[in-house]
Amino acid sequence: MTSQIIFLGTAGDSSVTAKQLRGSGGIVLQIEDFQFNLDPGPGTLNKMKEFSLNIRATTALLASHAHLNHCNDINALVDAMTLSGLDKKGVLIANKTIIEGNENYNPYLTKYHKNLLEKVITLEKGQKVGIELVEIHALSAEHTDPNSLGFKFYCPRFTLGYTGDTKYNKQLVEELQGSDILILNVPYPGNKSENLNLDTESATKIIAKVKPRLAIITHFGLEMLKADPIVEAREIQRATGVQTISAKEGLIISPEAYAAKSPQHRLSNFY
Ligand SMILES: [Zn+2]
Repeated sequence: MTSQIIFLGTAGDSSVTAKQLRGSGGIVLQIEDFQFNLDPGPGTLNKMKEFSLNIRATTALLASHAHLNHCNDINALVDAMTLSGLDKKGVLIANKTIIEGNENYNPYLTKYHKNLLEKVITLEKGQKVGIELVEIHALSAEHTDPNSLGFKFYCPRFTLGYTGDTKYNKQLVEELQGSDILILNVPYPGNKSENLNLDTESATKIIAKVKPRLAIITHFGLEMLKADPIVEAREIQRATGVQTISAKEGLIISPEAYAAKSPQHRLSNFY
């Protein structure tokens, strides 16, 4: 099987999610024979059905932080993946808040659903884990959930960076170096972010420093939709010289087309 990145949703704030102006089902990564669901927000199962994707084929769920549009559907997905426990399988990789809760949040994962999975892995910034062919590194996102993560996926033929929800920070930019493809959560246009999120200006700075072969912006807030993500992506591309697109529901990327040519580069990522 070839690899694919499939966008199930691009909603990036609570009003876009609430009105479903854009879907909020996160991203599906198919890496050769393995399927991962990344940041499954509300409506992920509907979107899986809409795009003819089989949730039973999912090996691992990944959730970067404890905000609803990133992890709301983890229990529903665990239930569907495992036929409600008849076929105990799969891995959940999530940040500490999702699994353990904190003063503001109960754990998102219920005890019942935890027991349906083969494994639950809590990742903290700087840690890594291997799932089948893929090595996953937890990155230093900086967001209102203090345990928020980004992820970097070292796949056999390409490297994918995902910022998660974050403001600009140097450490994260450092960790994203070497990404062939970079997915950025950019809820705000221009320089309009006033909180711990990216806007077009800070996303441009990251892309200019990481220089991936392809940058994809997603996770749009209301202001971003008004400004038009296509226009913002064009602006980033003009400023950085990096091919940049804005995600939409059902967008499919073939990541291997953007892989670095040198096999040495790939090997060095693994050791
Ligand atoms: Zn968030």
